[in-house]
Amino acid sequence: MRLLVVEDNEELSELLRKGLEAEGFAVDQAETAEDASSALKDARYAAVILDLGLPDRDGASVLREMRGRKDGTPVLVLTARGGLHERVAGLQGGADDYLVKPFAFEELVARLRALLRRPGEMLGRVLQTANLALDTDGRQAFVDGRAELMSAQELTLLEVLLRRSGKVVPKSYIEDQLFGMTSEVGKSAVEVSIYRLRKRLETMGARVEIHTVRGLGYLLADAGAG
Ligand code: CA
Repeated sequence: MRLLVVEDNEELSELLRKGLEAEGFAVDQAETAEDASSALKDARYAAVILDLGLPDRDGASVLREMRGRKDGTPVLVLTARGGLHERVAGLQGGADDYLVKPFAFEELVARLRALLRRPGEMLGRVLQTANLALDTDGRQAFVDGRAELMSAQELTLLEVLLRRSGKVVPKSYIEDQLFGMTSEVGKSAVEVSIYRLRKRLETMGARVEIHTVRGLGYLLADAGAG
């Protein structure tokens, strides 16, 4: 899943990028409200982490712009201003959640994962199809209850497919979620990732199939469900 981190404190921004990448997210960074606005127009993000105190203008204006153009991407606001008044004002401006600095990284990840459980997608902490389960908080896959070792990228791809199990996931969406804007992505990067995940699931003995829907994307389904 691809995230945008809007934070002008370089040290904190790098800390978030490294930590979130280790959790399997692809991360783009913006330092100003202007950078954030253009990134949001260029790409689709699973969620945005938004600092309110930015050098050019208030981060809240980025949020207002997004909601103004009906962009419903979940936004987790970071703020040093801890007062209740600021919190309420921010949530009315369309923020989905709040974290007051300083915060624990684990707390940020937990809030983020909660925001990523969106309507229309499979809800809950554990996603399951046939004998394959994925604990999205613990980042752990299971086959018949047996824990399986998977790479961060395999886990991300599996989560994207499992959240929409039985539905087609567009290839462009998968590409957005797997690779950040800064990565050099070859034309066949998604195909290669899907190929590897199919092999891995087969080795693990998962009774699911990833179907290629030509011109549209990919669909994960119970292999026994026809
Ligand atoms: Ca700041």
